[in-house]
Amino acid sequence: MLQYSIAVIPGDGIGPEVMDEGLKVLTAVEEAHGGIRFTREIMDWNCQYYLTNGRMMPENGLDILKDHDLILLGAIGAPEVPDHVSVWELILPIRRSFSQYVNLRPVKLLKGLESPLRYKSHADLDFVVVRENTEGEYSNMGGRMHQGTPYEMAVQNNVFTRYGTERILRYAYALAEKRPTKSVTAATKSNGINHSMPFWDEIVKEISLEHPDVRTNLYHIDALAAYFITRPETFEVVVASNLFGDILTDLGAAIVGGLGLAPSANINPERQYPSMFEPIHGSAPDIAGKGIANPIAQVWSLSMMMDHLDLPEISALIMNAIEQVVQEGKVLTPDLGGKATTRELGDEIVRHIYLGTR
Ligand code: NAD
Ligand code: MN
Repeated sequence: MLQYSIAVIPGDGIGPEVMDEGLKVLTAVEEAHGGIRFTREIMDWNCQYYLTNGRMMPENGLDILKDHDLILLGAIGAPEVPDHVSVWELILPIRRSFSQYVNLRPVKLLKGLESPLRYKSHADLDFVVVRENTEGEYSNMGGRMHQGTPYEMAVQNNVFTRYGTERILRYAYALAEKRPTKSVTAATKSNGINHSMPFWDEIVKEISLEHPDVRTNLYHIDALAAYFITRPETFEVVVASNLFGDILTDLGAAIVGGLGLAPSANINPERQYPSMFEPIHGSAPDIAGKGIANPIAQVWSLSMMMDHLDLPEISALIMNAIEQVVQEGKVLTPDLGGKATTRELGDEIVRHIYLGTR
């Protein structure tokens, strides 16, 4: 019997709504497979917890998480708590303390769905963004000065270490080695950002020399954003700094049908610490409480978790269930043009998991 313990953080807004469906799918997987158990510990760490306790998680929160094999997150953020507080006190400490330096974000159009890009099909939209997840523009360094005067200013430093840059690029190149066309597209902005980005480009060059059979394309981030729209079929592995990767992947989500369909994995490749799996969307206050959030991004993140655990059959079982439901097109949430609730779509995915194991 394989056994894994998961720390579950449903979070705020639609986070708990989509997490309920994710956990149902997990149970279905256990029943379908028989030889695997996922024990869950549910954490009530969210903005409500913050309003009661003055912090987003207990003082020993990271120690609690460290004792688990995996972390599953819904979404964090509520209007009553400033976003930089909820993000910097919960999500970012987890990513950093556990060296989850790879943020893997597939951009894949599911069969049966149409891209808002009129002439692009699912054959054109299938690549992965590797986002640096621990440093770069999200540095927590800098400060605000001269408040209340006309000279008021804010400075935010970007931090690019050789160690951090090399390891994310190495991961991206190793991933490209396993892909059919072996190509890496690196995002840069070395014309305008004149210290960190030339440094990034130099390291791209160095790591590319270690992979002579991988083709490298280096594009400025602004041009690259446009290419996501005009020729997404040319990408296979896109690697980007923390901020650039964050922005590119919301764009990536948009071209494959929206944020409800975009999963992510925060990975510690050395497996010294738990990795974390989450949808890339936030708590969506505009639709929270209505029961209409799309749970697919959350469920898809479970499939990524199975890949991380080297359980490709279970990963495929989940993905096939999602794809069949989407292709049948009968039970879809409003963001996909349907009338179903979050729960109805979750139930339909579960039903297809059982069908897939018969
Ligand atoms: P968001 O992702 O929450 O929402 C953006 C838009 O996408 C909204 O119109 C929303 O309704 C829609 N949407 C998102 N997920 C959906 C789903 N599963 N199904 C259907 N529609 C969906 O981004 P935002 O509005 O910029 O941020 C809201 C809050 O979430 C903020 O507090 C922000 O800080 C937080 N946030 C958290 C995370 C995280 O937990 N990792 C990520 C991004 C934003
Ligand atoms: Mn984001």
